[in-house]
Amino acid sequence: MSTTNKKFFSLECAVQNYHWGKFGEQSTVASLGRMQKNFNFDAEKHYAELWMGDHHRGPSIVQNMSEPTTLTQLLQNNPSLVGENIIKRFGKANLPFLFKVLSVETALSIQAHPNKEHAEILNRTRPDVYQDDNHKPEIAIAITPFEALCGFRPASEILSYFHEVEELLFVVGQKAVDELINAEMATDKKAKDEAVRRAIKGCLSQLMACDPNTIKEQLAKLITRLNECHKKHEDTSLYLGRLLLRVHSQYPGDVGCFVIYFLNYIQLEPFESIFLGPDVPHAYIYGDIIECMANSDNVVRAGFTPKFKDVDTLIEMLDYKPQTVEETKFKPTSCSDDPHVSIYNPPIDDFSVKKIQIPAGNASEYDVQSVKGPSILLTLSGHADVQYETEAGCLATSRGSVFFVGNGEKVKLTNISSNEELLIFQAYCDLV
Ligand SMILES: [Zn+2]
Repeated sequence: MSTTNKKFFSLECAVQNYHWGKFGEQSTVASLGRMQKNFNFDAEKHYAELWMGDHHRGPSIVQNMSEPTTLTQLLQNNPSLVGENIIKRFGKANLPFLFKVLSVETALSIQAHPNKEHAEILNRTRPDVYQDDNHKPEIAIAITPFEALCGFRPASEILSYFHEVEELLFVVGQKAVDELINAEMATDKKAKDEAVRRAIKGCLSQLMACDPNTIKEQLAKLITRLNECHKKHEDTSLYLGRLLLRVHSQYPGDVGCFVIYFLNYIQLEPFESIFLGPDVPHAYIYGDIIECMANSDNVVRAGFTPKFKDVDTLIEMLDYKPQTVEETKFKPTSCSDDPHVSIYNPPIDDFSVKKIQIPAGNASEYDVQSVKGPSILLTLSGHADVQYETEAGCLATSRGSVFFVGNGEKVKLTNISSNEELLIFQAYCDLV
């Protein structure tokens, strides 16, 4: 494929049918995927992820060219679409990020992502398991009510579960728990922080090292107890009863079921978000999100998965800083000169995400702020025409439309339908 002067492209995006995805009609991924030309909808299938970007396992296909081409080829042949700054910073003419929609029906594995330096070491020393040397920070922005486990709970909460749930105490052991009790009582703030982190790590190590048969037995005992309570209509929220029964029905006997007592259980409303920085333990449980991540596959897993678990690496790398649910949520910033925009700008270079939300009947035209770098636009609701400056072209956009916008291109939305809200997410990298 030759070079092009165009800077604005319609994309057809890969859909992934992983087993944990929502079924047919219920899946946001399927409903967005149905807007694509070659999508064969099957109500019996799981629809887990929509991938927007140039990842080698599912690059988007560029539509408005003389011949279909992958976004990867387009960017390699036209590096100016990415921009000099970005290429200098990340070393190649591709997207530093992968943009996704996820529809989660059953819990994903408990995992964390290494930082850049650690990723390079893992890749060098164990290339068979860790094929990628990049870090993988990610942001999850809810688009339906969404549930996840993320980051360690405050020590007082973890201790309350050791107190209430005797099966948990049994598998962790009194000695490790006593260390956490002692750490909590320390008076010097700095010494306390360190002791608490060390003690939480000690408790989690004991849990993960426990004999799998003992884990199964103790879980079975706990499940029987919870079911009996529910039969009698007793409240089991002190043991996270409903959540435990749900994850146990999905992963019976799995050590991950006990991990819910260590990690914050977070329920996000639409447009609330969490940022998963390096070494933050997390597991998505249910719901639909917009996700953006560094362009990488690097995952270290330890539960809720039939895949390879690398417990020793995970225990060593985790960030054991305890925090509350409110502290764990990542807050977007508003834009002083544009009331329609919220910016999710995590503390990394690889990506930011912008939400553009124009209420029904509020405006018929809108200038999308231009970006000094590559970006991807996804429309979730509404109708408009999209005018782009280079080649003075125009395409229509509606739910499920995805566009790649080259470095510096000016984009204007016109004929915005007054009947419904226009909602667009833009993932971008501009290093500003
Ligand atoms: Zn993750």
